[in-house]
Amino acid sequence: MSRVSNFGHDIADRETYSPPGTGGVAAHQEKAAKPPFKAQTGWSFATDHPVRAYQRMPSAISFDGTATPPVPRGEYAIQTLQTQTLQADRLNFMRLAIFAVLFFVSAAFAQNQNLDNVQIHTLHVQGNVYMLVGGGGNVTVQVGDEGVLLVDTSFAQLSDRILAEIRKLSDKPIRYIINTHLHADHTGGNQAMLQAGASLQGGGNFIGRGARIIAHSNTFERMSGLLGSDKPVPTAATPTDPFATESKDLFFDGEAVQVFHVPAAHTDGDSIVFFRRSDVVSTGDVFVTTSYPIVDLQRGGSINGVIAALNRILEITVPAEKQEGGTMVIPGHGRLCDEHDVFEYRNMVTIIRDRIQDMVQKDMTLEQVKAARPTLDYDPRYGSTTGFWTTEMFVEAVYRSLKQGAKQ
Ligand SMILES: [Zn+2]
Repeated sequence: MSRVSNFGHDIADRETYSPPGTGGVAAHQEKAAKPPFKAQTGWSFATDHPVRAYQRMPSAISFDGTATPPVPRGEYAIQTLQTQTLQADRLNFMRLAIFAVLFFVSAAFAQNQNLDNVQIHTLHVQGNVYMLVGGGGNVTVQVGDEGVLLVDTSFAQLSDRILAEIRKLSDKPIRYIINTHLHADHTGGNQAMLQAGASLQGGGNFIGRGARIIAHSNTFERMSGLLGSDKPVPTAATPTDPFATESKDLFFDGEAVQVFHVPAAHTDGDSIVFFRRSDVVSTGDVFVTTSYPIVDLQRGGSINGVIAALNRILEITVPAEKQEGGTMVIPGHGRLCDEHDVFEYRNMVTIIRDRIQDMVQKDMTLEQVKAARPTLDYDPRYGSTTGFWTTEMFVEAVYRSLKQGAKQ
C-alpha cells in the first residue's frame, strides 16, 4: 500500500488522468465520447437489453451448489471446435472461436482447482468488518449485536470451513448475504450460508428460508435462468431480495450498509458494498489485485464499465494520513487494499483501454492489436500466459468490448 505519488483526488482528474508518455491518447476524449454503456436500472424480466445476443452462448458454469465437475480447462471448447468446424464456414469458425474463449472464462469461473487442502484465513480489516481469504473469491464478514452479514460466499465446497471461521467471530445467526455478482466462486456457498442463517423478518414468503440474499436483479435473473443461458442454481441459493435500482441500503449492526450497482462492468449485475461506519468497501470482481480486470462479455461486462466502477470506488474511498489507509478496500480476489491501490489499478486499466481504443479507431485488427502488445509495460505485474485469464484474453476482451461499444 505504498504511495509513491499522489496525483490529487479531483474526480475530473480521475476520469481523464493519463500520465505523460504512456499512450493515453483517448483519455481527454472520454467526456466527449458517447456513453460507453447504457444505464441499466429499472429493467423488468421481460425487457430486452443490449447484451442479449451474447447470452445465447453456451455456458459451462455449474451453479448447482454442489461440487463443481472437474472440467478440463477448455477441453469441451476444443472438441467443439474440432467437430463443428469441419463443415463450418469461416464466419462460423470465428463465432466458435469466440465461444471457445468465453468457455475458457466460464470454466475458469467454475474453477477447476482442487479445493481439498485450501485453508481459510481471517483478517480483521477494521471496525465490524473481517475478510476471509482462501480458495475462491474473498468473503467479507460484518459482525455485531444483530448478527452476521456476508458479502459473497465463495465456493460451495468451502462452506464448512468458511462457517467455522465465521463462528470464531460470532455465534449470532447469519442475517444477510449480499452477492456482488453471479459467478460460482462468489455465490457457490449461498445455500449453505442461507440455511445456516435466520432472517430478521419472520413470515412472508421466505419463512424458514434462513438468511436473506441481496443482489442486483440481473444477477438474480441470471442465477434463476431468467436471463442468459447459465444453468439455474437451486431456488434455495438464489437471491431473495433482488434490487433493480441504482442502490439499496440497510442499517445493520450499528452502521449503514450501502449496496451500489455498477452497470456493465465485470458482469451486468455487479454490486459494491460500503460499510459506512467501519469505513470498508467490498468490491467483488470489478477490482482484483491478482490479474488484469476480468471482463465477462458474455454476461454483460464491458471495459468501460470496469473503469467506471473503479472510479466509483475512488469516489467512496478517502485516504487518511499521508494518503495511506483510511477507507479500506476488499477486492474480489487478492490482498487487502486502500484507495491508492485502486487508484494505481484504475490508471493502469485506463491507460491500456486508451491504447486499444486508439488502435480500434485506426481500424487495426485484433491480431494487429495483439501484436502491438498494448499491455507490455504492465505484464510483469498483471500479465499471464497461462491460467484462466491470460493477457491475450484480456486484450481481446477489451478490443471486443470497445468494438461493441462503438456499434451502440
Ligand atoms: Zn467473478
